[in-house]
Amino acid sequence: MSKLIFEESAEGRVGFSLPDCDVPARADLIPERFLRKTPAELPECGEVDVLRHFVGLSAKNHGVLSGFYPLGSCTMKYNPAVNEEVARFGGFAGSHPLEDSGDVQGNLRLMFALQNMLSEIAGMDAFTLQPAAGAHGELTGLMIIKAYHERRGDFRRTKILIPDSAHGTNPASASMAGFEAVEIKSDADGNVDLDGLRAQLDENLAGLMLTNPSTLGLFETNIRTIAALVHGAGGLLYYDGANLNAILGVARPGDMGFDVMHLNLHKTFSTPHGGGGPGAGPVGVKKDLAAFLPKPVVVRDSAGQYGLDSDRPDSVGKVRSFYGNFGIMLRAYAFILSMGAEGLKSVSENAVLNANYLMRGLGAYMKIAYDRTCMHEFVASGGSQKERGVSTLDIAKRMLDFGVHPPTVYFPLIVPEAMMFEPTESESKQTLDAFLEIMRGILREAEENPELLKTAPHNTVVGRLDEVKAARKPVLKR
Ligand SMILES: *Cc1c(COP(=O)(O)O)cnc(C)c1O
Repeated sequence: MSKLIFEESAEGRVGFSLPDCDVPARADLIPERFLRKTPAELPECGEVDVLRHFVGLSAKNHGVLSGFYPLGSCTMKYNPAVNEEVARFGGFAGSHPLEDSGDVQGNLRLMFALQNMLSEIAGMDAFTLQPAAGAHGELTGLMIIKAYHERRGDFRRTKILIPDSAHGTNPASASMAGFEAVEIKSDADGNVDLDGLRAQLDENLAGLMLTNPSTLGLFETNIRTIAALVHGAGGLLYYDGANLNAILGVARPGDMGFDVMHLNLHKTFSTPHGGGGPGAGPVGVKKDLAAFLPKPVVVRDSAGQYGLDSDRPDSVGKVRSFYGNFGIMLRAYAFILSMGAEGLKSVSENAVLNANYLMRGLGAYMKIAYDRTCMHEFVASGGSQKERGVSTLDIAKRMLDFGVHPPTVYFPLIVPEAMMFEPTESESKQTLDAFLEIMRGILREAEENPELLKTAPHNTVVGRLDEVKAARKPVLKR
C-alpha cells in the first residue's frame, strides 16, 4: 500500500545527495520583502519514497496500458514504444526552440516532411503543425475561413453550420472565432438533413463544419452533394479530423471537397493523450487558403536549406508559442514511417472491423442506435435499461470494477442514454470477446441486482464521485 509522501514525511530526511555548496551563502542579495517568513511545507522523504509515491499514483489511474479503453471519439489506441525511443534521441530532445535555423536543420527537415506526409494522407496542399490540440486546430481553421472571406471583401459571411451530432468543441470554436454557430439536424439515418442544410444557404454562410465519419460512427453518404451545395452558396467546408482513424489510407477529406481541416496527432497518429496533453492539432488547407496559414511556415529553399518564413502578409498570425509541440510531431512521424502506406490503411481496416465486431456482439444485449455498418466507432443506447431503473451512468461505473474504461457516455446528445464505443485497431479479438462477456454479465446484473450497478464502482480506489461538484467545486489541495 503506497502512502502519499506528505504522510511519509519525517523531519530531516532528504532525497538527494549533493556536494556541499562552495559559494558563500548571500541572503542579502535577495531583498528582504521577497524572503519567506516561514519554511515551506514540503514533505521530507528519501528518493525511494518519492518514486513509490508517483508510481503508486500512476497505478491508481487507468491508461491504455492498464486495460481496454473504448472511449468513443477519443481513439485511445496503443502508443508504440518505438515512438518514445525516437522522441528521446539526444539531437531532438536536447534542442532548444530558440536555436538558429542553421543549427536545427534536422528538426526543420522532419517538420517539413511531416507536413508533406499529412498533406498526402489528407489530400490537402499545405499543413501547419502549430496548433496544440484538435479544438485549437478548429479555431485556427475557422480564423483561416474568416480571413479568406474578409480578404475578398466579403464581410457578411458570419454563419457557420454545424450538425447536431458534432463534438461540443465545434460550436465553441466557431463562437471564439467570431462566427454565429447554427445547428443543422441529422436525418433518421444519421446523415445531415439536406433540406435543413438547403434552408441555410444564403449570403451569410461562411462555412460548414463536418466530422466524417460523424461522432455516430457513420460515414456521411451525401458528402459530395453537401460539398457542392456549400460551395455553390459561397461557403467553405471544414473537416473535423478527429475521426480520421476510420478512413486512413482509404479516403481523403481533400478528395471529398473539404477546404480546411485539422488532425489530432494524439488520436489517429498514436501520440499519447489524456490528462490534458500535450497534443497536436495540425491544420491542413487547399492551396487557395495556404497564404492564411499561421506563421512562421517551415520552408525549403532551392539549395535544400530549411528555414522558417515569417514574411506572410495574409497569415492569421501565430497561434502557438514557437512551432507547436515538437516532441509530439516526432512520435507521429515515427508512427507514420513505421506503419508505411499499407500499414496505415490496415490501421483503419482493423479499427473498422473491430468496431463492427463489437457492435454486432453487443447488439445481442443492447439497442444499437443506428442499424448501419459502422465505421471506427458506434453508439449504443441504454434506453430500455433506463426504463427498468438502471442508467447508462450505472452501467459505465460498473465497468470500472472489471478493469475496463467505460465508453463515452451521454454523447452524442441526439441518442438517449448514449454509449459510444471505439475499440481502435490495437485490440485483439480475445480482448473484444472478454469485454463482451463482461457486458453480458453487467446487463444480467442490471436485471437481477440493479443495486449493485447503482452503487458501483466497488473495486476502485475511490467510489462514485459527485461529478458535478468535482467540476464546479474542485478540491485542488489538501
Ligand atoms: C477529440 C475531438 C475534438 C477535439 O480535439 P482535442 O484535441 O480534444 O481538442 C473535436 N472533435 C471531435 C469529433 C473529437 O472527437
